[in-house]
Amino acid sequence: MILFNDLKKVTELHGAEINEAVTRAVNSGWYLHGHETEAFEQAYTRYIGTEHAIGVANGLDALRLIFRALIELGRLRPGDEVIVPANTYIASILAVSEFGLTPVLVEPDPVTMQLDGNLLKNTITPRTRAVLLVHLYGQCACTPVIEEVCQSHGLMLIEDNAQAHGCKYNGKRTGSLGLAAAHSFYPGKNLGALGDGGAVTTDDSELAETIRSLGNYGSQRKYVFRYKGYNSRLDEIQAAVLNVKLKYIDADNEHRRELARIYFDNIRNPHVTLPYWSGGDDHVFHIFAIRSPWRDKLQEYLTKNGVQTLIHYPIPPHRQECYEEWNTMSLPVTERIHAEELSLPMSAALTPQEALTVAKIINEFKP
Ligand SMILES: *Cc1c(COP(=O)(O)O)cnc(C)c1O
Repeated sequence: MILFNDLKKVTELHGAEINEAVTRAVNSGWYLHGHETEAFEQAYTRYIGTEHAIGVANGLDALRLIFRALIELGRLRPGDEVIVPANTYIASILAVSEFGLTPVLVEPDPVTMQLDGNLLKNTITPRTRAVLLVHLYGQCACTPVIEEVCQSHGLMLIEDNAQAHGCKYNGKRTGSLGLAAAHSFYPGKNLGALGDGGAVTTDDSELAETIRSLGNYGSQRKYVFRYKGYNSRLDEIQAAVLNVKLKYIDADNEHRRELARIYFDNIRNPHVTLPYWSGGDDHVFHIFAIRSPWRDKLQEYLTKNGVQTLIHYPIPPHRQECYEEWNTMSLPVTERIHAEELSLPMSAALTPQEALTVAKIINEFKP
């Protein structure tokens, strides 16, 4: 079976170094707020190109802490509207609705599957304050139109970079393009820990300080509490793993692009649409998302032929039970993507030979 993302193999790529780092963290006797976390925050700051990086417990917390901090600082108020892509992982939207902010769903461009900048303009109201830009599937979602709209309407640009570590936009890393960005180090992400982890990056010192304090029970000084905060921290063992894996993320992403090129060059089937890609460093292929009107049949066929695939995602946020208030909304582009998307095997450990095999099997598919 060719697995979608063989995490055991991915870890084994740097197994000895990871084991050594974990052992070092275990033997240090210091498990939270220590050298590994501090070293990772510094290295990640340099890597993304921001002034600050704050380690947190996971990607959803990174998003939540950004919005909560903006509320504490009076830069957002409950009832304010935040534009979010209609086709994203639910976490992006949960972080907005949790604080009484109003998520406004905007359809993607049907070709790139990223937030449609032209629709964005028509969605702005006097209550619109921010855009949460999700670099979905590892592809940069930022465009000159989106930048221009944010600038001319004074909207805060916040990035969900959970799927796009290392991705670039005009030479800058995603995660450094707006006011703040959330990162996830969930094991399956391009930069994955061996458990949960996350980070916020920002150039804004006031925001960074507030987020750090909110993640530490709302405290800046021991036993003095300014906010009703949370406990959200990156632990030393995960930070030690990330310190190893950060060294290889660019090479891993290049490997993913090489696999993507194999898919682009070899998949020839009239029932399959390949994803959009400029060919540059604006895509790190967290997901290689093909589309087919015969998606379910194609998935079944691939499983039978030894290829594991996943669907990102089967049900759009507005059709979920938790957002019952949106269930009657019609978002045809998003709905179609959710009905047709299929994610092919893709990981730092997948071999070019395996990708070629997958392509050949797809070419034999007849609905
Ligand atoms: C994974 C993911 C998250 C959440 O990250 P966790 O670390 O799992 O909490 C948020 N947004 C997007 C787009 C994701 O893919």
